[in-house]
Parts: sequence; structure tokens; C-alpha cells
Amino acid sequence: MPAELDAVVVGSGPNGLAAAVTLAAAGLSVRVYEGADDVGGGCRTSPLTLPGFVHDVCSAVHPLAVASPFFQAFQLTERIELRVPDVALAHPLDGGRAAALHQSLDETIAGLGADGAAYRRLIGPLVHAAPDLVRVLLSPPLRTLPRDVPGVAAMAAASLLLNGRGVARTFRTDEARALVTGSAAHALQPLRWLATPPFGLLLTLLGHVTGWPMPRGGSRAITDAMADALRKHGVEIRTGDPVRDLRELPRARAVMLDLAPEQLLAMAGHALSAPYAAALRHHRPGGGVCKVDFALSEPVPWAAEACRRAGTVHVGGTWDEIGTAMDDVTAGRHPDRPFVLTAQPSLVDETRAPAGRHVLWTYAGVPNGSDVDVSDRIEAQIERFAPGFRDVVLDRRVRTAKDYERYNPAYVGGDYAGGAATVRQLLFRPAVQWDPYVTPLPSVFLCSSSTSPGGGVHGMCGYQAARSALRRRFGVREAPDLAAVGR
Ligand SMILES: Cc1cc2nc3c(=O)[nH]c(=O)nc-3n(C[C@H](O)[C@H](O)[C@H](O)COP(=O)(O)OP(=O)(O)OC[C@H]3O[C@@H](n4cnc5c(N)ncnc54)[C@H](O)[C@@H]3O)c2cc1C
Repeated sequence: MPAELDAVVVGSGPNGLAAAVTLAAAGLSVRVYEGADDVGGGCRTSPLTLPGFVHDVCSAVHPLAVASPFFQAFQLTERIELRVPDVALAHPLDGGRAAALHQSLDETIAGLGADGAAYRRLIGPLVHAAPDLVRVLLSPPLRTLPRDVPGVAAMAAASLLLNGRGVARTFRTDEARALVTGSAAHALQPLRWLATPPFGLLLTLLGHVTGWPMPRGGSRAITDAMADALRKHGVEIRTGDPVRDLRELPRARAVMLDLAPEQLLAMAGHALSAPYAAALRHHRPGGGVCKVDFALSEPVPWAAEACRRAGTVHVGGTWDEIGTAMDDVTAGRHPDRPFVLTAQPSLVDETRAPAGRHVLWTYAGVPNGSDVDVSDRIEAQIERFAPGFRDVVLDRRVRTAKDYERYNPAYVGGDYAGGAATVRQLLFRPAVQWDPYVTPLPSVFLCSSSTSPGGGVHGMCGYQAARSALRRRFGVREAPDLAAVGR
């Protein structure tokens, strides 16, 4: 029987949409199936609290999107408006102190006092090698490595220096130690794991290269731009249409799954080879997240001035405290003093809240699968560095890790990164194979963040999976013109 369509995409997260854009740009007929009533996956914005307040349901801060080769080819920054906060990141400490990451390397160094020179030695070479490094870190591992040895060597050396207690040997001040540790803690896993520091280093160097931008109107501006471009190009996107078994789908020469390995097993496990199915079963999930969105009567009353200007504020105290919180999460405990990521988009985007009011986006790492509401601990941590915070809260909306899985089945146990960032899962994700996107079923490709290069809104998993499908199923080797989609 001839195929009804060239390609079908299941899931409209940033990676599913990136796969659809890439396939459509190559001239193929494509249809997208999305289980939720709205496109966007981890890139949606909704009115979660009071009238007039809008909140990013998942992702909020987008250096990865701006740096991503996929989004650059798609010309994202010409399709949406980005707001770049004056201070990318601030990290408060007890006593009203704070460290700050500015886009300017010199300004950041000037604020780090005795550790300024050490910070320059560590981060300077990475910023210098940023274009190559970003390409390597956002590509399937090992493919681009031979061409980019100096940048990769600098990254590897810096990662080893910062591993575990290395942070305390590299820096003397609480400020510098906390600044680099907080970014690494986005991985929600122990600081001593070899693959944890590269996370922080990538986010830190992007802070100097792109800043940590936020889209005007909310994160959904990114996925709306992709969906609009696809629709203009003639691609049908069916929302509210969850796929439960691959046999429900129309016949297509390529089926792209923006889904977790567990979902592929449930939908087609009977047809997968035993070794591949075993690899999917052994794919290790990462920590979960418990998120609280706040509607505020005024800005957060941070004690430290840098926090009052920052788009992102890392709330977790010293690097040692953050390390304990990370160990707790991985050991299945809920930290008493969690590491809390917060973002203040309404400081730079007037569309998020009524005039004079504000939103605050916060989440803390919790054990995978947790259904515990840790909002009291999140509030206590913020109150510690912003006395009077509770007095400005008008409303709040809590989602536990389990709620996240209910909201999006691809977030298994509330894991937002498609699997833990262990060394094995950074190199081979989700199975040990040269092409991470292929499955034993020739027409079926995985394109979610459970494949390389992993979590975050960069679209590179979807883009690379689509390139793999184009080569293998359609004999197309050249990169399609993504900028033309929807124009
Ligand atoms: C609280 C939180 C904060 C985050 N903060 C950031 C941040 O600031 N910056 C950043 O870069 N990243 C952030 N992330 C991570 C980022 O959102 C994800 O890594 C990213 O969305 C992964 O994209 P994806 O396309 O692989 O999957 P997803 O975005 O998860 O998309 C999967 C899609 O598939 C759909 N789906 C699932 N099952 C089915 C089915 N059976 N049939 C049809 N459709 C289905 C889902 O509804 C969803 O739309 C955050 C995530 C969370 C949860």
C-alpha cells in the first residue's frame, strides 16, 4: 500500500516541531499529532493564576534557543521578540550579598572580587571557543569532536576542575562558588557526577554570548512561531489527538516520535528488537520538578540589589547547600532547603502581568515520581533572601512532579530533561548506537529530548532526527532551507 503521507510527527514540543519544520522544508508532506489541546510541549504559556497574569508552564529562559544552530537556521530571532534582562542571573547569599552573571565578561569578573581572575581563567577560553563548543555540545556526540579539539579540551579541563568539591579548590569566595554551582544544578543531579559541570559551563558561557533571554509574550512565542510557520507551509497539526499505539497512525515513510523511551515501549514494544527494548527499559530518568507560579502585587523584595534586576535568580545559598540538595534529590529525599530556580519575566516583559504587578516562576528539584507539594519550602527559601516575600503574594499555582507527568506523559516522573545526564546518557542516548535517532523499525525515529543532545529548548534533537530520516528514508543529504518555512 502506498504511504498516505511522507512523514508523521507525534508530539508538538520544540523537538517535534523542529522535526516537522525540517521535513516540511525538504518538501515533504507532514502531519503533526499532539495529545494536548495546545501545541508547544514544554514551551507553553498560560493564565495559571489571576486574570491578567500569564505564566510559562515549563521553560522560561532561552539561551539554548538563541544559540541553537536549528533556531538560527529557522531565523527565530527574526520571527519573535526577545527580551534580554540587564543581569542574566543573580545568586543571593545570606547577609544581603549576591553574585551576578552579566553578559559582559569584564563586568562579571569585576563583581567577583578576589575570584575575578580565576573566573576569567576558567570561563574566558570557553567564551572564546563558544561557536565551536555550542555546535559540539548540541550535536550527536563524537560526530563533530575531531574538528573542535581545543574548545572541547578547554571544556573538559574546566569540567574536571569543577567536579565535586573542585569548586571549593578553584574559587575562594562564596559568591563565585555559588554562581557556577547554581548553573550546574540545572541538571538536578549530584555535583560529583562527571557530566554535571558541563551543564553549568554551557549555561554560563551562553550568559556571556547570548545573555539569558525571554520571549515577549512568554515561551509559547517560540513554539507558536514554529506552528504558525508550519501551518502556512500547509502542514496539518492535530491537537487533542493522543496516540496510544503506532498502528493508529496513517501510513507514512517516516514516523517521528517526540516522546519518552517508556512511551515508545508502550506503543510499539512488541515490534522492537530485544536489545533495543532492553536499552529503552534501562534508560535512567532524571530528577523531577515541583513548580510554583506566583502572581505578585509588586516585585520580589530581594535584599540584594542584583537580584532585583536579574531575569533569573538561583535560590539555594552556598555551593555546599546546593550540593546537599542535589544529593538528596538523587537519593530519593525531598531537601529541607531545596535549590530553587526562579525567573522574573515581568521585569522585562510588560505583557505578563497587569501594570505594576508581577509574576514569579519557580521550581525545585524533587525525587523522580514525587507527588509532594514542596511550595512551603520554596517560599521559605525565597523569604530567606527576600524578607517580606509572602506579603506580596496574591495567588499561587503548584504542580508536583507527578502533575507534570499527567500534564505531559513525555515528562516521565516529572523529569523535564528526557533522562538523567549521566556520562553514558550524554554520549549514547537512549541506546548505544552511532545514530541516536533510529529505532529497529526502519520508518520510526525518536526525536525527543531523550535523544542527543538532551533536555532544553533548542530543537536540535528534532532537527538531527529529521536529518537522519531525510538521509535514510528519502535519500536527501543536503540541509533544507529552514528560513523559507512559513515565509
Ligand atoms: C518546569 C520546567 C522548566 C523548564 N525550564 C526550561 C528553561 O527555562 N529553558 C529550557 O531551555 N528548557 C527548560 N525546560 C525543559 C524543556 O521544556 C524541555 O527539555 C523541552 O520542552 C523538551 O522538548 P521536547 O520537544 O523533547 O518534549 P516536550 O516539550 O515534552 O514535548 C512532547 C510533546 O508530546 C506530547 N505528547 C506526549 N505524549 C503524547 C502522545 N501519546 N500522543 C501525542 N502527543 C503526545 C506532549 O503533550 C508534548 O506536547 C523546562 C521544563 C520544565 C518542566
